[in-house]
Amino acid sequence: MSLITCENAAFAYENKPVIENLNFTVDSGDYLCIVGENGSGKSTLIKGLLQLMSPAVGKIIMGDELRANEIGYLPQQTALQKDFPASVCEVVLSGCLNQSGLRPFYGREQKQSARKNMEQLGILDLKNECYRDLSGGQQQRVLLARALCATTKMLLLDEPVTGLDPVVTYELYQLIEKINRELKITVVMVSHDIESAVKYASHILHLQNEQLFYGTTAEYLNSDLGKKFMRGDCDD
Ligand code: ADP
Repeated sequence: MSLITCENAAFAYENKPVIENLNFTVDSGDYLCIVGENGSGKSTLIKGLLQLMSPAVGKIIMGDELRANEIGYLPQQTALQKDFPASVCEVVLSGCLNQSGLRPFYGREQKQSARKNMEQLGILDLKNECYRDLSGGQQQRVLLARALCATTKMLLLDEPVTGLDPVVTYELYQLIEKINRELKITVVMVSHDIESAVKYASHILHLQNEQLFYGTTAEYLNSDLGKKFMRGDCDD
């Protein structure tokens, strides 16, 4: 079942093309990694997936199963990290904002969802801690739990391991894999880390000027672009 279908899409700023001829689908259960160098258009595509920007040509179609407010989004950097004076539980609960409707404050259902997601991500014992006092890895777990409160279908993660040390990075990748495999939540992740992308993802979308690639991870590893990048031969 397709959650997202991208058909011949092109994105441009003031008529300057950034991405052209983009075709891919995200099916329920997929783990798609979007890779590519700085400036290749990854953030632009995320804006497209969040329906903040329309393709100049072609279209991005959300399947009947998915509305934009059902995507759990984890941005690359967040102001929450520095100054927001909230507990872990409050930060996670704020992911339920789109379900609280017109009622003031959060109901029992949302609080249960926040608790369940903190439990699943191993941060329930931190629930009363102040978010800004946590380590970078703990903060990312909290933001993942928050994103899970917004969706039971799809997570959109923008460079979730940036700035984390290798051990914490590994743990976070394991957790994302668990969310995909066990909770059956579709994952779309932007990453610089092609080696980890091919280790964990089911599909790869590589944005690279004229050589755009989309396919399964096995197909990517057999493609010219995949072979070139897996050799580390990526300067030309
Ligand atoms: P990435 O996320 O892969 O680093 P971006 O999507 O941020 O790539 O940028 C792709 C290209 O679009 C870059 O050349 C960038 O300079 C340009 N760009 C991004 N945002 C804007 C904007 N708001 N106005 C004009 N050009 C932009």
